[in-house]
Amino acid sequence: MNYEVVPLRALSDNYVWTIRDAKRAAVVDPGDARPVLDYLDREKLELVAILNTHHHADHVGGNSGLLARWKVPVFGPHDERIAQVTQRLRQGERCTIPHFGIELEVLEIPAHTRSHIAFHGAGMLYCGDTLFAAGCGRLFEGTPAQMHDALSRLMKLPDDTRVYCGHEYTVANVRFARAADPDNPALRELETKAKKLREQDLPTLPSTIAQEKATNPFVRVREPAVIASANRYAGKTLNDPVGVLAALREWKNSF
Ligand SMILES: [Zn+2]
Repeated sequence: MNYEVVPLRALSDNYVWTIRDAKRAAVVDPGDARPVLDYLDREKLELVAILNTHHHADHVGGNSGLLARWKVPVFGPHDERIAQVTQRLRQGERCTIPHFGIELEVLEIPAHTRSHIAFHGAGMLYCGDTLFAAGCGRLFEGTPAQMHDALSRLMKLPDDTRVYCGHEYTVANVRFARAADPDNPALRELETKAKKLREQDLPTLPSTIAQEKATNPFVRVREPAVIASANRYAGKTLNDPVGVLAALREWKNSF
């Protein structure tokens, strides 16, 4: 691999994942241009592409500021709310990051927003605000069934896929996950690891698909312990994974 992936912090807790080599860089979800411009200037890198997973301002707010300096392709969803996208992509379509030759396949995963996409390829997943370490995005424009479908499809990716999420939410997510899945030893381990990293001001990401299968209550909706917790919260017996996810999502919103 002749490139690395660097997290640039933006706004309060966003990451702008930056794929870079010695001369060039591509960025995923630049919510703010400033930290990206600072980094690229400091490292003397030329921008070659922008990738957008969804239209929220904290993911696309930096597009214009970067495009003012570099005329580069912007890969994103079919959603007019992101005016700067030059190549709109559907489920199964591919894009290639110029110069890096990294080919990424698009997965349409509506739930957090109605047009949210993820990029997958070269052992990486850029999933915006759909999948977080030990959590999932809020359902602003979608349903629990859509989120369940999205997460189920992401969990079919290879276990060692590195999961680059849009926000540093892990410690708070683990706190909720431990309430929903209290006897899960993998969660205790993740809690210790994540807290230690945050104490050193280091990112807890990327995660992996294997880690999410082991720790994320929103993908563990068939586990008896998670179902029992969701039932307790809902005050009734939920007998399908979508119902369990819906209860967890509602519980988490007020946790
Ligand atoms: Zn969002």
